[in-house]
Amino acid sequence: LTALAVAEATLARIDADNERLNAFLTVSRDELLAQARALDAKRARGETLGPLAGVPIALKDALCTRGIRTTCASKMLASYVPPYDATVVAKLKAADALLPGKTNMDEFAMGSSNENSAFGPARNPHDPERTPGGSSGGSAVAVASGMTPAALGSDTGGSIRQPAALTGIVGVKPTYGRVSRYGLVAFASSLDQIGPFATDVRSAARVLSVIAGEDGRDMTSLRVPNDDYEAACGQSVRGMRIGVPEEYFAQGLDPEVEASVRAAIARLEADGATIKKVHLAHTKHAVATYYVVATAEASSNLARFDGVRYGLRVSGNVARDSKHAQGGALRAMYGATRDAGFGAEVKRRILLGTFVLSAGYYDAYYLKAQKVRTLIRRDFEAAFADVDAIVCPTSPTPAFRLGEKTSDPLSMYLSDVYTLPASLAGLPAMSVPCAPTKAGLPVGLQIIAPALKETTMFRLASAWE
Ligand code: GLN
Repeated sequence: LTALAVAEATLARIDADNERLNAFLTVSRDELLAQARALDAKRARGETLGPLAGVPIALKDALCTRGIRTTCASKMLASYVPPYDATVVAKLKAADALLPGKTNMDEFAMGSSNENSAFGPARNPHDPERTPGGSSGGSAVAVASGMTPAALGSDTGGSIRQPAALTGIVGVKPTYGRVSRYGLVAFASSLDQIGPFATDVRSAARVLSVIAGEDGRDMTSLRVPNDDYEAACGQSVRGMRIGVPEEYFAQGLDPEVEASVRAAIARLEADGATIKKVHLAHTKHAVATYYVVATAEASSNLARFDGVRYGLRVSGNVARDSKHAQGGALRAMYGATRDAGFGAEVKRRILLGTFVLSAGYYDAYYLKAQKVRTLIRRDFEAAFADVDAIVCPTSPTPAFRLGEKTSDPLSMYLSDVYTLPASLAGLPAMSVPCAPTKAGLPVGLQIIAPALKETTMFRLASAWE
């Protein structure tokens, strides 16, 4: 099998299904074929190939790709072509992976259903009238529909784990700092983390081992050795202590999701793990805390989209905006550009974020949220004194219908309730499929491990699989 044949088969698959599923925003056909030919030539010369040689990997469109447009599913960046590769993209290339293109997402990664994309939502292959989840929905769909065996997403508050759960695949959010964020368009910098999607646990482990590691270009990337995630796969769970947080089986949890997750826990116990109750008492504050911290950081990060430095520029109406007496044309241009370039959810978050950071409200909201964030992290630290890992549902419901929650942002935010705590605590967490609902919709089991214990997480995930 040549890399060229793999690339052509991948393109054929995307051509057949993408119109229906809207997983890819950009298919980089020529670059992919050139990459495949170069790889075949390298093999013909007898050179050693990288650990992902010939494996097609889809990239969330928040990851900068040199020479290939990177839109973040926003009108603001619809024609932005980065002059550099994100560190993870450079690492995939160095590992000889094939990169067929850029996947759909919620605009600037803000959302849980992909419906905030400026280019229309990606659709769930199990039922195209339903959401694949978000924000990394397109990457999840690429893998779940068989277009590519793996993909990269980013997870700020669940955007890898929740789409993995809703489409029936594996999705991994590493420890904060495990993977360089250089070249990931920032949403909430203290939470953003890049990670893999794959059809199986071992493949996800391999992709993580390629993209992880310290990077001088990201000062928050950790100077720690890269553990052997693949070797952790395939070990038994016998003797492992697994915590079950009762706070995660509360009101709002779909009964079929609960039954599936409880059955998974029973099987882990039958396989020799010890199941213990743990308490994560501040879980109920996670949604409020996250939506203060994340919007505050987003309002600051998105200030750079001003019509001067990147992408869209719309000249404003100086006469109409006469309040901008000083620097009138420039200020009018800022306003017009941001008004035209950002969608409704992004604007809502910028407003929320600037509000919680403003004088007079900072102490009441932002500072308070930071304190609660610490309490949430301490809950986990206390729990991990007794257990090796925690298991719980990834999402309170299976995939919901497109349009079901778009008119009610709060109900959309509440769907993140089980993924947000691990994000706020910076912990590694992943979703693996467990038994589907009677209607055949996928359900995800979430595994949360102590900081930097991805190996524990992979051991448990592969044993469950
Ligand atoms: N759904 C969450 C939000 O809308 C998380 C998004 C993410 O992880 N990027 O912010």
